[in-house]
Amino acid sequence: MAVITEAAIRELAARRGERAPITSCYLDVDGRRVARHKDLEHEVEVLLKGAKAQANGEASVQTDLNRIERLVRSGLDRSHVRGLAIFACSADELWRVIELPVPVHTRVVINHVPAVGQLESVLREHEPIGVLLADRQRARMFVFELGELVERSELFDELPRDTGARGERDRGGDHPHASEAHTQAHLRNAAQVAFEVWGEHRFEHLAIAAPDHLAGQLEAELHPYLRERLSGRLTVPVTANHGEVLAAAEEVEAAVERRRQAKLVDRLRMAVAAGRRGTAGLAEVVDALNEHRVDVLLVSKGFAAPGWRCRGCDRLAAIGRRCRGCSGEMDEIDDLVEDVVEEALAQACQVEICAGNADLDVMGRIGALLRY
Ligand SMILES: [Zn+2]
Repeated sequence: MAVITEAAIRELAARRGERAPITSCYLDVDGRRVARHKDLEHEVEVLLKGAKAQANGEASVQTDLNRIERLVRSGLDRSHVRGLAIFACSADELWRVIELPVPVHTRVVINHVPAVGQLESVLREHEPIGVLLADRQRARMFVFELGELVERSELFDELPRDTGARGERDRGGDHPHASEAHTQAHLRNAAQVAFEVWGEHRFEHLAIAAPDHLAGQLEAELHPYLRERLSGRLTVPVTANHGEVLAAAEEVEAAVERRRQAKLVDRLRMAVAAGRRGTAGLAEVVDALNEHRVDVLLVSKGFAAPGWRCRGCDRLAAIGRRCRGCSGEMDEIDDLVEDVVEEALAQACQVEICAGNADLDVMGRIGALLRY
C-alpha cells in the first residue's frame, strides 16, 4: 500500500476538471462494518445510482462512475484496506485510487475541483509515530505511518564479557561500574539511532518501550527535538514482533488522537462560554452551517437525530416543516447529523468525530468552531 503524503494531496488538490467535472468518491470498505462483499457491492450500487442521477448525463462523469462500479465489482482485497479514495475525470485522463488502512465517510462529489478534505483529515488524524524499544544491549527503532511500517533501524551493543548474562539481570555483577558505563553508552547510541531515523523520516510522536529502570535514562539521552515528541511509554519487550509493536503504536496513536480532539473540545467549550466563534447543540450548528460559518465541526461518535431537509433549496433544519430559506416545504429525514457531516465536508470544514469525549456529550453531542 502506497502511503499517501501531504505533497501528493496538494498535487491532487491543484487538479482542475478542464474538460469535464472531477468525480471524487470515498468508500468505507471496512470489513468489520460490512463483512460480505455482496453487501458492499449493493451499497456502492445505490450510492453510484444517486450520483449518476446527479451527473445529469455528463458523459465523462458517467464513465468515471461506471469505472468505479467495475473496480468494486472486480473484488477488493480488504485485508488491509478499510477506505478508498478515488479521483476520476475520464475527459482529462485522471484516475487515482488511494487505498487507506482507515475507514472514510462514504460519499461522491462531482465538482470542477477534487474533494480532498477527507484525505487531509486522515493524514491529520494519523501522524507518523516513532517507537523506540531498548534493553541493556539492544535497541530497535520503528516509524509507522497510517498503520504501515515506513522505517526501521536496529542496534546491538553487546554487553562486556564480564557482565554477560548475569549482569543483564542486574544482579550486581563483578564490575558494576563497567556495566553501568556500558548501559549509559548503549542508551546514548540508542538515542542517536532514534535521532538518525527521525532525520530520515520525520515522526510527530515518539513512544518508548524499555524496562522502567532504563526508560528515564533513555529519555534523558534523547535529542531535545525527540524529547518534546514523547507521547508515552509502552510495555512491549525489545524482542516483540512486528505485529505487537504495531498494536502498541496504534494505542499511542489513539491516545494522541483523543488528546488532540480533547483540546478542540476545550476550545469549543471556552468559545461557547464566551459567546464568540463557537456554538453547540444540533439546531445551533445547523444554523451556523447554513450560514457557511463553520470552521471545525465536532460530533460525538454514534450521535444521530431526526431533522428536516428542504425539498426546494436543500437547506437543513432541526425544526420543520417550513423552510426558513425559501419558505418551501421540508421533508423529514431520519438522521440530520449524517447530513450535517456531509454538508460540512462539502463546505471543506474540518470534521472531527470524537469517541468518548464526555465534555462534548454534555454540550449536546455536537458543536462547531466558527470562522466568525
Ligand atoms: Zn428551502
